[in-house]
Amino acid sequence: MNIGQRLGIDSNRGDASSSPWPLSFMQPIYIDYNSTTPTDPIICGGIQPWLEHKFGNPSSCDHAWGWDASEAVEEGRQALAGFVDCAVAEISFTSCATESINTVIKGFVSRTNFERKKVITCATEHEAVLAPIRQLQKLTGIEVDILPVDHMGHVDLSRLETVLSSDKQMLVALMAANNEIGTIHPVRAISRITHAAGALFLCDITQAAGKFPIDVRADGIDFAAFSAHKMYGPKGVGALYVRGGDPPIELEPLIAGGGQERGLRGGTLNVPGIVGFGEACRIASAVMAEESGRVRKLRDRLEEAILSEVPDTWVNGDRVNRICNTSNIGFRGVDACALIRDMHDIACSTRAACSSGAPGPSHVLKAIGLTDEDAYSCIRFSLGRFNTEEEIDYVIHKVIRSVHKLRGQGGV
Ligand code: PLP
Repeated sequence: MNIGQRLGIDSNRGDASSSPWPLSFMQPIYIDYNSTTPTDPIICGGIQPWLEHKFGNPSSCDHAWGWDASEAVEEGRQALAGFVDCAVAEISFTSCATESINTVIKGFVSRTNFERKKVITCATEHEAVLAPIRQLQKLTGIEVDILPVDHMGHVDLSRLETVLSSDKQMLVALMAANNEIGTIHPVRAISRITHAAGALFLCDITQAAGKFPIDVRADGIDFAAFSAHKMYGPKGVGALYVRGGDPPIELEPLIAGGGQERGLRGGTLNVPGIVGFGEACRIASAVMAEESGRVRKLRDRLEEAILSEVPDTWVNGDRVNRICNTSNIGFRGVDACALIRDMHDIACSTRAACSSGAPGPSHVLKAIGLTDEDAYSCIRFSLGRFNTEEEIDYVIHKVIRSVHKLRGQGGV
């Protein structure tokens, strides 16, 4: 099904009057989909009853309100399990991907003696991975290895093998796709190496989900984290896949409470969020192939025009193994913050939303070898479902104009 047909509009939505969104939504032009996505109007409609009259607590076993809510949660769980190809019981709901990741890392470390634990990750991971690892290292003294990456954002797999040869209980945390530069890690190769050393593999699939198929079984993933708001669902709901097995992998819950989610995550479930997440997964499964191709074409149009029209520009990351929507472009000698301010009717960013207030240059761009000055000159453009060719042409025009203007003023 074509996106436009699904939304009942011309898929090349240049004309705001044929859009399902109010005109105000179109301005500024939104190309910051890696920070969050607009909620799909179909999903908004599906959630509405669960915010209004269908208010039951899914843990209430004694009446129809609870049964109804519980059924909706289980339908959502089924949709997520189908989306990543796992058993329904292997999916738990959380509040976001950060919580799912923290549950795995902290749950893994806190089970037995710290001296026997080792966590391995890489320098370009999201702070949702790096921050809890740093925190645990400080609190417990566990051994941590943060692997460097090459100029495209790839880990040296032979180095991974080397740091894995240890007699410790090990967790490897490596993402499927990077949120700033879009580089896709070779997940199957990583899982093979990890399992050969007897370690467990946590894969943050937050940016991959909905952009390319993830099959947690075939990919050999033991734990996966993802989030509804990165795939056109609502904010406030995340998912955690934990591979089932005999014996099961034991994790200490991060949030202990009323025993929800088989004791892995206490707290009343976010029913509207879960309904929306389920629908987001169903839609993504149906449209992913067509949507990724369309978005890739728009992204390439933007990238090629900027590279050919604006001198002294470059693309960060692996241009081949890269998610379809992301283009991280450097504009030598231009302050990216000044550029973004100048293009005030375009919503894009210099880095991950969660780190955008942090001091210093992006840790991802530094890890791939950029100088501070070059790292401060980069903009992440991340496109998505509702972008049109007309919008991208406007962005191209604005970028060319603003860079020219700022360079004329001495770069700032
Ligand atoms: N992992 C990656 C790769 C992300 O891009 C993000 C969000 O930017 C997260 C984790 C955190 O997701 P959430 O906002 O659901 O906690």
